[in-house]
Amino acid sequence: MRKKIITIDGPAGAGKTTVSKLLSKKLGCVYVDTGALYRGVAFEIQRQDIDWENDTALEDFLGNLNLDFVTKKNSFILMSSGRNITNSIRTPEISMLASSSSAKPQVRAALLDIQRNIAKTKDAVFEGRDMGTVVFPDAAVKFFLFADLNIRAKRRFDEMPDGTKDINRVQKEIETRDHSDSQRKSAPLKPAKDAIEINASFLTIEQVVDKMLRIIEKA
Ligand code: C5P
Repeated sequence: MRKKIITIDGPAGAGKTTVSKLLSKKLGCVYVDTGALYRGVAFEIQRQDIDWENDTALEDFLGNLNLDFVTKKNSFILMSSGRNITNSIRTPEISMLASSSSAKPQVRAALLDIQRNIAKTKDAVFEGRDMGTVVFPDAAVKFFLFADLNIRAKRRFDEMPDGTKDINRVQKEIETRDHSDSQRKSAPLKPAKDAIEINASFLTIEQVVDKMLRIIEKA
């Protein structure tokens, strides 16, 4: 049977992960954070010290890459060649390297099957940048979640451990990442033509999720 796929795209810090988790819980399905895959690529590029801007080196690297999601309760953990790397991919350096390396079409192509294979067996909420535009153009319902830059920066800032706090730096990093994610040629960040756009600047997570549930019920 064809699985029901909901997509949530949007810029960094708009609340996609928190919203996806709660929405999938309410729908009784899994959620898939596809940013984790791009972070996994960046983690391995950094760990193996790969010259990823060199196409030959990048293709060799991708040929040996073995990223996989393993189901854990209603979500996934990220494995790289059998090693759980879920807790090693959230640093600011990995965020920036994920954004720059994800502009490479070879990187995007290498991750396509992992994402689509999950959708063959499970109803899921997929969050990312190109879910509604490229990976799941036939998704049942597509959302594009956004919020004002200063609000997104403040939310990220509040989530960080005290020692690393610098709101200007957080805001600059988000801005740089959004710029490169939306300007790249390959699968740029943008709303799908049939996406429902939600401005989360002045909404709580619960309000966003309620809005989404009402839309999904009617779809
Ligand atoms: O969502 P998250 O911030 O973890 O994503 C990290 C980076 O991975 C993004 O800045 C973006 O460059 C890339 N990404 C992507 N396509 C996706 C998900 C994430 O290009 N579907």
